[in-house]
Amino acid sequence: MGAVSSDGVLIVGGGLAGLEVAHQLAKLEVPVTVVERGRDFRTGHISWELGPEEALNLWLQPSTDEAFWRPWSTTTPPHFDGVSCLRSRLGGRSLYWHGVVLRVADRILRDHWPASVASELMCSFQDGPSLYERVLAELVVWGPRPNRSVPPPSVSLGPYCLQLVPRAIQSHPTLPRRWRAYSPLDRLVRDSPSHVTVLEATQALRLLCDASGVHGALVSDSRGKEREVLSPKVVLAAGAIVNGALVAAIREDPTSCALRPSGPTDHLVQGFTARIDSNEMIDGIYYMPLSDDEVSSQEDANLFIELSSSDDGRVMEVWVCSEQVQSRQSELRVTEGIGGTDLPYGIELSASLSSRDLREVARQRDVLQDVWNHLARALGVAASRLSFAEFGSQHSGVPDGNKRAALAPREPAPWASPLGTEQHEGCNLRLGEELTGDAAVRGRSGLYVAGPSTFPRMGAANPALTTLALAMRLAHHLKGVST
Ligand SMILES: Cc1cc2nc3c(=O)[nH]c(=O)nc-3n(C[C@H](O)[C@H](O)[C@H](O)COP(=O)(O)OP(=O)(O)OC[C@H]3O[C@@H](n4cnc5c(N)ncnc54)[C@H](O)[C@@H]3O)c2cc1C
Repeated sequence: MGAVSSDGVLIVGGGLAGLEVAHQLAKLEVPVTVVERGRDFRTGHISWELGPEEALNLWLQPSTDEAFWRPWSTTTPPHFDGVSCLRSRLGGRSLYWHGVVLRVADRILRDHWPASVASELMCSFQDGPSLYERVLAELVVWGPRPNRSVPPPSVSLGPYCLQLVPRAIQSHPTLPRRWRAYSPLDRLVRDSPSHVTVLEATQALRLLCDASGVHGALVSDSRGKEREVLSPKVVLAAGAIVNGALVAAIREDPTSCALRPSGPTDHLVQGFTARIDSNEMIDGIYYMPLSDDEVSSQEDANLFIELSSSDDGRVMEVWVCSEQVQSRQSELRVTEGIGGTDLPYGIELSASLSSRDLREVARQRDVLQDVWNHLARALGVAASRLSFAEFGSQHSGVPDGNKRAALAPREPAPWASPLGTEQHEGCNLRLGEELTGDAAVRGRSGLYVAGPSTFPRMGAANPALTTLALAMRLAHHLKGVST
């Protein structure tokens, strides 16, 4: 039996969201215990430790990764299959992500998020700068100083004008083409705050709950030894799907009603990869929003172009990332028995595209064809028809290193990511819906949630910046209820 102090917080999951909440709580001098299922590998971000090709393959061939863990099964493969997984290690996917930090569009926040949360993200938090401003200021201190004397590069293709995407990354001081994206693990290792205890290789199996609320978790260590860790406040930060399962698996007491998490959403992403021989554009990731912030009839979408050089030449990756809107087509169920994982229950996911999603998929293909037509003209080649397979009909995701090496020059290879592949799964325990505006699970006193799980709507933006902003907000709230 272990206990977190009466003013402390137990965090389940030591990835991007959990460690950021821990870091923010440590700054506020609140005692924290983090239980993380994976081990501490004592290595950093994959793009810092490995060359670009190896890092790409570790991402796209996840079963070659020691940290690979997929505790769910899917009834609708290839959705939530293949590349879709967790990386079970201290640091989680904060040691894999690409550092793209985009704000959720103002229109989405204004129309679909609780007003107080939207206002604190966009306008002002605790009578000071907004949460987005505060997090971006912290990332600027962490990252390299921007060189303001040189205008940032951009890419223009016909009507498309793309700017360099903001990224929270540091370049390696000596090794070319190596970099690392921000991870709160670096801060915790560097500062080793006395308020934070990390239990690695320790998995939360169930939440301990009675009529008065949640008061800790049943955990098991790497040898399968079980014990209870008691805490007055528990934050779920185990990734959206495990968060949902832990809530769904709470053993009901007769006085409380069951809480069913929603099915997760992911982003709809399709694109094409082409080997090019033009040197006019500078390596980097560029983007432009495709939907006007004021136009609410279209799904929120961003167009990206990534240019990268290697010993084999230059590769251009073009993709559109759109919001997948919540629908009944997506469901998460906890099943009896051990579902092929080390959790004491199975997790089953079903996900498919709604008619609204299918319309967006068609729009994405029109945009990608148009971009390719302009690009082909610039490259002086005939613009062929991009031939996409049916969305979700096969494992047709981003080409890995081997497929890239086999690409014929200037011939685009179209691809479509099955749901779950983008690793932006979320929106299943939503602020203002299953959660209060303070990220507390309704009807489960003492239980809170962090990470993309909590987003009421994802918009088209990559989720990490908002995850970091909401981690800061939750830490301040928990400090407030502790004192
Ligand atoms: C290759 C790649 C590139 C990406 N690029 C971007 C990007 O550029 N921008 C962006 O915004 N997002 C990006 N993402 C997505 C981003 O990394 C995720 O949104 C983010 O990491 C989610 O944070 P999380 O804390 O919810 O989950 P994770 O970071 O996955 O952390 C969850 C942790 O919980 C642990 N855990 C799970 N179950 C249990 C349990 N029962 N008990 C104890 N511990 C448990 C896991 O082992 C894991 O360490 C990318 C992801 C990948 C993989």
